[in-house]
Amino acid sequence: MTTAPSGKTKGKSNSTAAPKREVMRSPVFAEVGLPPDPDNLYTQTVDTMLQAAECLGVPHEVQIILAQPKNEIMVHFPVRMDDGEYKLFKGYRVQHNNALGPYKGGLRFHPDVHLDDVKSLAFLMTMKCALMRLPFGGGKGGVKCDPYGLTKGELMRVTRRFCAAISHAIGPDYDIPAPDVGTNAQVMAWFADTYESLTDSNRSSWDALRVVTGKPVEVGGSLGREKATGQGVVDVCTEILPSLGINVKGMKFSIIGYGNVGSWTARIFHDLGAKLVAVIDHKGGIRNDGGIDAHNLAEYVGKNGSVDGYEKTSTLTGAGKKTTAGATKISASEFYQTPVDVLVPAALEQMIKPEQAKLINAKVIAEGANAPTTPAGDRVLSERGIEVFPAILANAGGVTVSYFEWVQNKTCTSWSAERVDKELKHMMAQAAQRTLAARKRFNTDMRTAAYVAALEQIAKVYAVRGIFP
Ligand code: NAD
Repeated sequence: MTTAPSGKTKGKSNSTAAPKREVMRSPVFAEVGLPPDPDNLYTQTVDTMLQAAECLGVPHEVQIILAQPKNEIMVHFPVRMDDGEYKLFKGYRVQHNNALGPYKGGLRFHPDVHLDDVKSLAFLMTMKCALMRLPFGGGKGGVKCDPYGLTKGELMRVTRRFCAAISHAIGPDYDIPAPDVGTNAQVMAWFADTYESLTDSNRSSWDALRVVTGKPVEVGGSLGREKATGQGVVDVCTEILPSLGINVKGMKFSIIGYGNVGSWTARIFHDLGAKLVAVIDHKGGIRNDGGIDAHNLAEYVGKNGSVDGYEKTSTLTGAGKKTTAGATKISASEFYQTPVDVLVPAALEQMIKPEQAKLINAKVIAEGANAPTTPAGDRVLSERGIEVFPAILANAGGVTVSYFEWVQNKTCTSWSAERVDKELKHMMAQAAQRTLAARKRFNTDMRTAAYVAALEQIAKVYAVRGIFP
C-alpha cells in the first residue's frame, strides 16, 4: 500500500482525519450577532473558518473581524427597458476584508442573488486570495436579474447603471470586480468603460480600466483569463491525483454546469486524455461511458445555452460521414450515480446535499464552483471516503489570472499565453502543497486544511500590521 502526501492511506476513508467537531458552537457567533443557522450559507462558511481558526489558534480579534464583512453595500437603480418602460433593479457589493490588499471578487447577475450569498462569496474570496498568497482581500457583488431574459441593450444599461451606483465605493487599487455567474468579458468591458467615463479626466483613463479584471484582451484583458478557472481546477488535479493513484490520462470525469468553469475544465481535461462521461446543467443531463467530445459539447452549449438536446445532434466525421453525438439523456440521480474518478461541480452553491452525496460514485470531488457542498453533504462524502478538493483551492485559478491581468495593466505589459499558463500552474501547485502540508500537520480534512493555510497568512498580516488605532 502507498501513502498519499496527506498521510492518508490510499483507498481508505477520510476517517483517519480528526473527526469534525460539533458545528456552530463557537462563541464568536453570538459575539458578532450571527444567528448560528446550519442551513444558512454565510454561517456555514464562517463556521468552517472558525473550526480552522481553532486548529491554528488564530487570535480572537482576528476571528471576530473575519466573521463579518467590513462593508455591505446595497443599491437600487432604474433602467429603461426596450419597450420604453423603467424597471427597478437591486444590486450588491460586499467588501469582506482588505488586510492583504484591495477587495477582489466577481459580479454575479442572477435572479436568486441575495445579500447572504454575496456575503459568503465575498468571504470565500478573502480565504482564496490568502491561500494563493495574492495581495488581495475579498469582495463580491451582484445584481438580482435574469441576464438571459434581457436584450443586449438592456444588459448593457443594467451594467452601466450598476457601475454608476457603486462607482464611489470601488477603484483600481481599492475594490476590483471580475466576472462570475451570468457575467462575462463583454460585461466587464461595459463596466470598465462606464467607470472610466465617471472618473476624474485628469487621471489616466487607461489606468481606470484596471477597476475590473476579466476584460476582453483588446481592452486590457489577459491572455488565458477566460479559461483560467478551469485551468486551475485541472492544475490542482494534476498536482494531487497521482498521489491518490489516479492518472489524469484515461481517467473518467463528470461535470455539473457547462458554463465558463465547467466547459473549460472539461476541454482541458479532454486534451490531457481524460474521458468526459456525464454532464448536467440547469436544463438536462447527458451520459456516454465511452466519452463525450468536450469541445464539440462546448460548441453545442454556446449555440443552445444548455447540454439539453445534445443527445439528438449529429456531427460530421473526418470523412464527411454523419454520426450521432453519442450520448443518452439522463436524470439528475442517474448523473450522480455515474461511476467516475473525478466529479467537478461547476454550477451554483449548495448543490451537493446529503441526498446527492449518498448517490455520488466518484473518488474525488474537485470544487470548480464556490461552496457547492453543504456541511451535511460534506460529512456524508467524508464518511464514504470521497476526497474533496475545496473551492478556495480548486477554483482559485480565475482570481490568480485576474491578478496577472491587474499586474500587466499596472506595469503596461502583456504576457504571452505560455507565461500565464506556466505561472498559474506554479502558483496552483504551491497552494495545493500548502494545503496538503496543513492537512498533515493538523490531521484534518482538505477543506479545513485549506482554511488553515489561508488563515496562517491573514493572522501573520494582522500580527505585524496591528489593528488601528
Ligand atoms: P456560468 O454562468 O458560465 O455557468 C453556470 C453553469 O451552471 C451553467 O452551465 C448553468 O447551466 C449551470 N447551472 C445553473 N443552475 C443549475 C442547476 N440548478 N443545476 C445544474 N446546473 C446549473 O458560471 P461560471 O462562471 O462557470 O461559474 C460557475 C461557478 O464557478 C460559480 O459557483 C462561480 O462562483 C464559480 N467560479 C467562477 C469563476 C469564473 O472565473 N467564472 C471563478 C471562480 C469560481
